[in-house]
Amino acid sequence: MSPLDVAMKQVQIAADKLRLDPGFCEKITQTKRELIVHFPVKMDDGSIKVFTGYRVQHNMTRGPGKGGIRYHPDVDLDEVRALAMWMTWKAAVVNIPFGGAKGGVQCDPKSMSVRELENMTRRFTWEIAMMIGPDQDIPAPDVYTNPQVMAWIMDTYSMLKGYSVHGVVTGKPLELGGSLGRFEATGKGVFVTAQEAAHHLNFPIEGARVVVQGCGNVGGIAAQYFDKAGAKVIGISDSKGGMYNRKGLNVSEVLDCKKRYSCLITPGAKGADEITNEELLELDCDILVPSALENQITHKNARKIKAKIIAEGANGPTTPEADEILHDRGIFMVPDILANAGGVTVSYFEWVQNLQELLWNEEEISDRLTRIMKRSFVEVLSISQKDKVDMRTAALMLGIGRVAEAQKLRGIYP
Ligand code: NAD
Repeated sequence: MSPLDVAMKQVQIAADKLRLDPGFCEKITQTKRELIVHFPVKMDDGSIKVFTGYRVQHNMTRGPGKGGIRYHPDVDLDEVRALAMWMTWKAAVVNIPFGGAKGGVQCDPKSMSVRELENMTRRFTWEIAMMIGPDQDIPAPDVYTNPQVMAWIMDTYSMLKGYSVHGVVTGKPLELGGSLGRFEATGKGVFVTAQEAAHHLNFPIEGARVVVQGCGNVGGIAAQYFDKAGAKVIGISDSKGGMYNRKGLNVSEVLDCKKRYSCLITPGAKGADEITNEELLELDCDILVPSALENQITHKNARKIKAKIIAEGANGPTTPEADEILHDRGIFMVPDILANAGGVTVSYFEWVQNLQELLWNEEEISDRLTRIMKRSFVEVLSISQKDKVDMRTAALMLGIGRVAEAQKLRGIYP
């Protein structure tokens, strides 16, 4: 299934449970606004390459659009639509006043120089500038984008306006109005919600065996939180494959190796084996954290998953068929729109600080984030228990229900 098929199917399941008005259902299965741009970029060898980029706003009923920008060869309009839709529900699940949006450029960032990435980012920003802004739509980092890319977007947008506009993006470097705790926020939120799930299932995080797919901003940080809490991270991977040690990996050594040499195989990794991403997902463990891309757990491998808890760091890693299989097998799911909502939550804190020209300290941010993640977990769990639905359906019911309520209050213009 394509990510958009998955997102549509999820909406249909939750909408049936909520008995939503068919007109509203039709509205939320469509995106509000979509922009496709084809733009030229001057490459280092003097040639001109034309890239295709997207910005999609799914729903702005509860506030301005919010959602990351992805640089990946597989980015296409349907993927960006699905990711924008998930952002709408996610912001509503954690009850922050944002709508859902997403963007991306179809490119292979690993084969581009820093200068080419900067040129591409600046031109893409210029192309989508009519759609973004602190009151309209606020991008952030996603797969293969980072604080430096956000700095270029902020600078280009500010040049167009003629003054510094900090609030146009979140996930910026601290020196440019970024927020303390934003870089760690998504991984921390994944850890906090997985910990709540472990409490619910009555087992301690200390000593729990954890497997993390993807070791970027989300997976890498989540692995560090699990490690710090005394869990055993027994498997971790990147796009090329993974490392496994049933006694537990040295997380900081593995991540340091990735940072320095772009590979996970550390010289001192005694007792660790190389495994594929497919094998990694099927490892015997307590908590599985898919933190890479969509469509990783499908009907093909769902019966082979051995984890007790899946905490989705990535957006859309599990298909609806796999959800059904996992639910029947009693595997506890912390769905993406809950588990990885820490990022959008601290993005909201960053935006608020930018608008008010105030700076919050790390403790304030960390406490607020933890409170919101725990409260949202409890709210989703109680819907799941009361309505006897799986955790994903419960999270969607909470998110979509809040958007439906806001829509009812606003009414339809004119
Ligand atoms: P990132 O670019 O920092 O890291 C991506 C990681 O995934 C890298 O380790 C990469 O090697 C790995 N990867 C790429 N392709 C893979 C493949 N085919 N198989 C296995 N691993 C692969 O990106 P990120 O920000 O960590 O985002 C990861 C996921 O989390 C995405 O689904 C993203 O939408 C989601 N997410 C990110 C944030 C955020 O704040 N960055 C917030 C919410 C959700």
